[in-house]
Amino acid sequence: MLRKYDYSEHSQVLRLFTRGEGMVSVLAKGVKKEKSSFGGALDVFYLGSAAVLRRPRAGLDLLASFRVETAFPGLREALPRFLAACHLEEILSGMVREAEPHTPLFDDTVAGLSALETAPEDRVAPLLAALELATLRELGFAPSLARCAHCGGEAAGPGTGLSVRLGGVLCPACGAEDAGARRPAAGTLATLRTLARSDPPRALRVLLSPAERREIRSFLDAFEEWRMERPLRTARFLG
Ligand SMILES: [Zn+2]
Repeated sequence: MLRKYDYSEHSQVLRLFTRGEGMVSVLAKGVKKEKSSFGGALDVFYLGSAAVLRRPRAGLDLLASFRVETAFPGLREALPRFLAACHLEEILSGMVREAEPHTPLFDDTVAGLSALETAPEDRVAPLLAALELATLRELGFAPSLARCAHCGGEAAGPGTGLSVRLGGVLCPACGAEDAGARRPAAGTLATLRTLARSDPPRALRVLLSPAERREIRSFLDAFEEWRMERPLRTARFLG
């Protein structure tokens, strides 16, 4: 479950990220009552099985039941983990459309939240970056990190730029195509490429220097905002 909105005194509209049908919005009647049929309040990042009553003429489908498998309690035990999960939620909510299935992305998100649940504080940033890059890739929005985003040529040596607007690295010859292109340290680009290929266990072995962490965070936030065409609420909470 990703997001909830109050609908009336006792009911909420829930936005679910489902394995088979992508984003689904449902009305949960009575969910806010103390003795609801849902066995208590449902919250963000709850994973479980939902039974949904289709109501083709009523607008919103009805949530009949939700059996919680895990609430990922470890996410709520440390603020950096919780903020990272909120950031992932924000980009999923902003980029995955209703009724558009993304089964591999769903499975990767569950695996990612499980890894985040026990991540040491200094590994939250690399893990989050790897999860964001995997999310962008599965949605077809991955930044080009190996080849120049403008000409398609090699872009690895000194003078390689990084452009939000053009969608990735720029070779020295194309550097002038985006006056706003960043000039990250060579080590940052290498780490970004590593994280783009890393599953959660591998990402958890990466340790970022303060400069890498800052440059990667700033690029990913700007890139996601540019893709979503709106500012990220969670960006300012991630250091
Ligand atoms: Zn180029």
